[in-house]
Amino acid sequence: INSYFRLAQQVLLQLEKKGFQAYIVGGAVRDSILNRKVVDIDIATSALPEEVQSIFSKVIPTGIQHGTVLVRYQNESFEVTTFRTESTYSDSRHPDNVSFVSNLKEDLARRDFTMNAIAMNRSFDLIDPFQGQHDIEYKLIRTVGQAKERFLEDALRMMRAIRFQSQLGFKIEKSAFMAIEQNRQGLSKIAVERIAAEWEKTIKGNYFNEAIKTLFSTRLYQNLPLIGNNKQLIQAIKELHKPIPSFAAFIAYMNISVQEIEVTDWIKEWKLSNQIKKESKKLVQLLSQYPTEALRWVVYQLPYHLIEDFSVLTDLCSRKTISQQEVIKLRKSLSIQSRKELAIDGNDVISFFPERNKGSWIQDLLSQVEHGVVLGKIDNTKIAIREWLKYG
Ligand code: ATP
Ligand code: MG
Repeated sequence: INSYFRLAQQVLLQLEKKGFQAYIVGGAVRDSILNRKVVDIDIATSALPEEVQSIFSKVIPTGIQHGTVLVRYQNESFEVTTFRTESTYSDSRHPDNVSFVSNLKEDLARRDFTMNAIAMNRSFDLIDPFQGQHDIEYKLIRTVGQAKERFLEDALRMMRAIRFQSQLGFKIEKSAFMAIEQNRQGLSKIAVERIAAEWEKTIKGNYFNEAIKTLFSTRLYQNLPLIGNNKQLIQAIKELHKPIPSFAAFIAYMNISVQEIEVTDWIKEWKLSNQIKKESKKLVQLLSQYPTEALRWVVYQLPYHLIEDFSVLTDLCSRKTISQQEVIKLRKSLSIQSRKELAIDGNDVISFFPERNKGSWIQDLLSQVEHGVVLGKIDNTKIAIREWLKYG
């Protein structure tokens, strides 16, 4: 229990002082039992969103229609949600209506898995009506209530089961496993963005191998966008033998493995951002130069935040793995880190050749100089570069 939890205690106290019930719930409780790092703390309360807004000075209305507000308290954030149930799902997609309820137990009952349905009070006592602690101890992902019903209500939960298996290394309890097999088609009704959010967590999980096995043995993969009906893509996923640090790296891996499906196809079908598109393309481009091109040149073009992705991809897609440390070391040893650090610019090039007219040759020469300096063939000084340009 760390300082973040101590602050949460104070938030609970503020709510209780006004006569409301309030508990820490969901992933934070699960992860603290597991001694895993807690990144965000969710709070469930009997207070309505407007009441929460009146108690705290900084409240951001992030999801009022679902009863959720974000409370900023001493520079930390808490997602505070009114106790609620989600009644009558008619479309396996989202609750037809959210109704607020007055007790904690009903709020816990709407949650997906027993390990996610444990509450913690202000004294850090656990309220655990569905034996979540037992299932955590036995490393079991078990639905709250009948698996079949719960997956019919919200098919995303099947993806979440696999995502948690990947992150935690738990087994999916037998009836839940069978219900995924039975209800797998429900996933096709779920918004791609929600599937993508779970998939991103799945590919990063330490137990990704086990999650992949479940994905195939339940045949849930058949309902993943793009992947479902493409034999080659399926094969490429089966060959993945370790976690992948980002969605961009995943797409790069898939595109390198199955070139007919382009990066833009992935972005479109999975509704991903331009940022991910740019990163995937960069990774594919750099991997295509590796290891034939000079390693220094490849590393020079690699943005810092993609170093881990690149290193993992050299392991998955090439015959020669290069570690992150090696990349960083080589990167630091380069005489320049970017073109801006070159000792000359376009004006210098023009001044070296006063007789020539302006044209694209200037940029071409600059690029050649940049390449030469990065490879250590030219010293990064005006004099050396001028010599090289004039006399080769
Ligand atoms: P993470 O650590 O990745 O955030 P989490 O358990 O907090 O994991 P969230 O997606 O943040 O997962 O959801 C918070 C809580 O809300 C869950 O622990 C669970 O109790 C509940 N929950 C989330 N999604 C669903 C769902 N589709 N059906 C039922 N309950 C859900
Ligand atoms: Mg969470």
